Amino acid sequence: MSETDEEFRLRLRAFLTSSHPGRRPKDRADRLGWQKAWLAALFDGGFAGPSWPRAYGGMELSFARQVIYHEEYAKARLPRPLGTGVSIAAPTIITYGTDEQKDRYLRPMLRGDVVWAQGYSEPDAGSDLPALRTTASRDGDVYVVNGQKVWTSAADIADIIFTLVRTGSVESRQDGISYLLIDAHAPGVTIRPLRDLTGDAHFCEIFFDDVRVPVANRVGAENGGWPLVRTSLGHERAAGVMNQAATYRRVLDELIELARERGLTSDPLVRDRLAGFEMRVRIMRYTGMRTIADIIARGEPGPASSTSRLFVALFEQELHEFAVDVLGPYGVLDREDPHAVQRGRWVWGFLRTRASTIGAGTAEIQRNTIAEQVLGLPRDPGMPAR
Ligand SMILES: Cc1cc2nc3c(=O)[nH]c(=O)nc-3n(C[C@H](O)[C@H](O)[C@H](O)COP(=O)(O)OP(=O)(O)OC[C@H]3O[C@@H](n4cnc5c(N)ncnc54)[C@H](O)[C@@H]3O)c2cc1C
Repeated sequence: MSETDEEFRLRLRAFLTSSHPGRRPKDRADRLGWQKAWLAALFDGGFAGPSWPRAYGGMELSFARQVIYHEEYAKARLPRPLGTGVSIAAPTIITYGTDEQKDRYLRPMLRGDVVWAQGYSEPDAGSDLPALRTTASRDGDVYVVNGQKVWTSAADIADIIFTLVRTGSVESRQDGISYLLIDAHAPGVTIRPLRDLTGDAHFCEIFFDDVRVPVANRVGAENGGWPLVRTSLGHERAAGVMNQAATYRRVLDELIELARERGLTSDPLVRDRLAGFEMRVRIMRYTGMRTIADIIARGEPGPASSTSRLFVALFEQELHEFAVDVLGPYGVLDREDPHAVQRGRWVWGFLRTRASTIGAGTAEIQRNTIAEQVLGLPRDPGMPAR
């Protein structure tokens, strides 16, 4: 007899509980090893990649089971995949990669053996991505890459950087861009971490000086990288809405508990704010379900991914602003302070989510995309292509 959804939930929960890797190490290098060991155990146990095709080591779960998967995973407080490969590069490679590229890259990415980072943004090419200037000149069967990327999340732990490079003229804009996979350890690649508000170095700047990259590392056609950008940005914006909904379900419950501990839950203003977050976390869950259903039906999350991205970005900023209010005077103590509440997690979240309305495309760009591609309003004459 085939397994029911409820039996699947219990089997998954039992695996996640029994193989839980324990407390997160403080030391950075130890933490990376701990995360990698967990991702390998998850893959080897047959519980990695809920939406991924089985051919590449994924679970290829039905709609209902993907929802169950994300809920159980969030509840168990487990490390997430490393870098941005699994959520952003993988759908692009599955759609546009050659069989050789799929065989070579996908399984090690999912198992966490090889970490990927997204090198799109440049100092003068963020929202206006087609202005990018990193060049890749052909020399026989290699490209010689020169230029700079910036704000590359997780580049300091990455093995492969999936980049956009200019193979056409500068004037060719999006028609002269190719999608290239660059070995992060190759000669000529320099990666420098950039410290952010939280004190952590979430992202990096990258310099390419005469880096030689095999032509076989190009995904899609030469000068034909732009359609791949649309696929990967769509997935980036939709990425993890279901997972975020499940995670924020837990976080909101913890915030309600914090407000209760501080004797605030009888205050009608506090109750009103909490009720607002409760509604939004439920909407996020339904949006996550809709995104999974769209990806199963059409292979793409569609332009509505901008709606979810904007929704989650505003939600997480406001939730953390409120948490800091709930802490009162303790809301200025960060994790280094011995008196910090819950080891400064709410304050860290407040600082970290300042970037939510910038990463994966700014809130202004998301609003333009929603206006034009979802609501069908006239095009903004100043709107860049990202
Ligand atoms: C936490 C974080 C992680 C990131 N990770 C990565 C990563 O892994 N890989 C990567 O490639 N990039 C990454 N980025 C970069 C991110 O994609 C860019 O910062 C973003 O696209 C904005 O680009 P910009 O910073 O150059 O700002 P700009 O594009 O210069 O924008 C400056 C301001 O002008 C506004 N603006 C620009 N054009 C318009 C317009 N047409 N209409 C209205 N307003 C407009 C913007 O909204 C913004 O407020 C990350 C950024 C952050 C904050």
